[in-house]
Amino acid sequence: RGETPVTPVGRPRLTVLSGPSGVGKSTVVAHLRRAHPELWLSVSATTRAPRPGERDGVQYFFVDDAGFDKLIANGELLEWAEFAGNRYGTPRGPVLRRLEHGEPVLLEIDLQGARQVRAAMPDARLVFLAPPSWEELVRRLTGRGTEPPEVIERRLTAARVELAAEPEFDTTLINTSVEHVSAELLALVSES
Ligand code: 5GP
Repeated sequence: RGETPVTPVGRPRLTVLSGPSGVGKSTVVAHLRRAHPELWLSVSATTRAPRPGERDGVQYFFVDDAGFDKLIANGELLEWAEFAGNRYGTPRGPVLRRLEHGEPVLLEIDLQGARQVRAAMPDARLVFLAPPSWEELVRRLTGRGTEPPEVIERRLTAARVELAAEPEFDTTLINTSVEHVSAELLALVSES
């Protein structure tokens, strides 16, 4: 029987970026992607429709409900969660392959997903992205302008609950500027 490569224990290799909706997680990750193309980022599957400018296989793998059901049934997701009426999940294979090779992995996922990763992989480092203030978060959630009011309201409700989860995380980064927080995140990912 072949030996399965094992990730060295004791040092986290998996970094999870999470935090309230609208805090700017995807903007930070998009900035990192541009500035550091060599850093591998997990691409999630989602049932949400693409926003303008989003491309299949880059920001997300866009799948329909049946496709997502199949990913779950085949055990292909490391974690998944329902968020504001859509499902999002992390494909397991690519993440595990990189960890097995000792390469750093960064996931940008919601709080429910972060908890699942914590349970499945206790070595993971959980990073909470916090807004500079609640007012700033409301401004960002309201200002996106691409979603109907009831969707924004759902996101605000989720954000209030999610802000309270900060103590569950290993590290908090405050999103004062994209450049600043990306550099801090890159340092965490690289030292993991
Ligand atoms: P959005 O629709 O704005 O791109 O993302 C909505 C939320 O889904 C964000 O909080 C984002 O972090 C989260 N999300 C994106 N991909 C995943 C994933 O693979 N798993 C989980 N649990 N959440 C995700």
